[in-house]
Amino acid sequence: MLKTYNYSDLSAEDLQQLVKRNVDPANEIRAVVEEVISNVITYGDKALLDYAEKFDKVQLEKLYLDQAEIAELADHLLPEQKEALQLAYQNIYKFHQSQLKTEGKVETMPGVTCWRELRPIEKVGLYIPGGTAVLPSTFLMLGVPARLAGCKEIVVCSPPQKSGKVNAFIAYVAQLLDIDKIYLAGGAQAVAAMAYGTETITKVDKIFGPGNQFVTKAKTIIQSTTGTAIDMPAGPSEVLVIADHTANPVYVAADLLAQAEHGIDSQAVLVTTSADLLKGVQQELDKQLAVLPRAEIAGKAIENSYAVIVADLKEAMTFSNAYAPEHLILATQDWSLITDDIINAGSVFLGNLTPESAGDYASGTNHTLPTSAFARAYSGVSVDSFVKKITFQHLTQQGIQNIGPAVEILAELEGLHAHKNAVTVRLA
Ligand code: NAD
Repeated sequence: MLKTYNYSDLSAEDLQQLVKRNVDPANEIRAVVEEVISNVITYGDKALLDYAEKFDKVQLEKLYLDQAEIAELADHLLPEQKEALQLAYQNIYKFHQSQLKTEGKVETMPGVTCWRELRPIEKVGLYIPGGTAVLPSTFLMLGVPARLAGCKEIVVCSPPQKSGKVNAFIAYVAQLLDIDKIYLAGGAQAVAAMAYGTETITKVDKIFGPGNQFVTKAKTIIQSTTGTAIDMPAGPSEVLVIADHTANPVYVAADLLAQAEHGIDSQAVLVTTSADLLKGVQQELDKQLAVLPRAEIAGKAIENSYAVIVADLKEAMTFSNAYAPEHLILATQDWSLITDDIINAGSVFLGNLTPESAGDYASGTNHTLPTSAFARAYSGVSVDSFVKKITFQHLTQQGIQNIGPAVEILAELEGLHAHKNAVTVRLA
């Protein structure tokens, strides 16, 4: 059963408390992760092998799968499984390809031209989660934009399965993406390896990918301690569904559970204008949960989730903007009336026939998205995440004459005479 709150009863403090998530108050996760990072720095590959044994319960002979091993694994897929992955690949490719735009040159004043050009980040690291569920979809979501951007080196890490390998789906995606090596490392240790480098894993310039709290904490730590950037803090998944009387309780419950089955720390929030809808959703949750293979995980996540009853869709949107959800579903026929009011959200699903699962896998949008209210300031992964936008400028004789006097005055007023002189010598 979802705990239920009435929006009108909530004080500002209650509201703040309700939208807060995934805190690590005793810094327990941080302590574990700092030790892992320190061991990877000191012991390199050996630490990775030891952690595979400790956390993934597998003794590895070597830390990676090569092209032949990947091909052998991928061979196990059925034709319809390959086709489903190809369809997802194509849609993701098509949507992300449209993001590769060339910007025009701008003449800001006669003789002064400025523009930006894209350059790929050279070495990127992709983290493909593989703890409680293996996510080949995440591999597509990261690999496709990395390839489109033209990144030279793509390092891929994923936790080893009990077999000491990755699963066949990950292997097939590696083939689709033309990636010939997968490193068998998971959790904070994989992030540390890509940030610092080990004997076998190359140090990268930027690390991408979602993961559990250990992965996310490691990413935030290495971001401040190394020269390695991260895409965003993409931690335990979450959904907020805004639903009114036009929503279908069967669909809404299914969407909430789709999120809940990710992990016990996932959160599924229902914000509704209709008490009847809420009643129907509660009944459906019990019914659908009873037959879910991951019922134990989803049930625990639902215990950490809740519903909020609001007066109207505008109020629902006010709550949603305060929560800043990773995924926002507008389960109402009137979705077009409220989309302009969305301020904070990672990815939005409009109407009763648009399940989040479509975007999770195959519609084309990216599913690596900011969680834990980071949607207030971060966007999801896109081709932009894999490139730098370098600015260029060119001044002609006329340009330096036009802009020079103003630059001389500005440099003078800041007391930077060498700056002034760099213009003066050209004007002379
Ligand atoms: P994972 O790959 O993130 O983590 C597995 C690894 O965690 C293991 O290999 C192990 O090294 C480490 N680990 C496990 N227990 C540990 C412990 N006690 N101490 C230290 N390290 C430990 O896989 P997962 O656990 O299944 O989590 C995947 C997460 O990714 C989920 O929370 C899911 O919600 C999230 N996700 C988020 C997005 C997004 O865009 N935000 C997308 C997909 C998935």
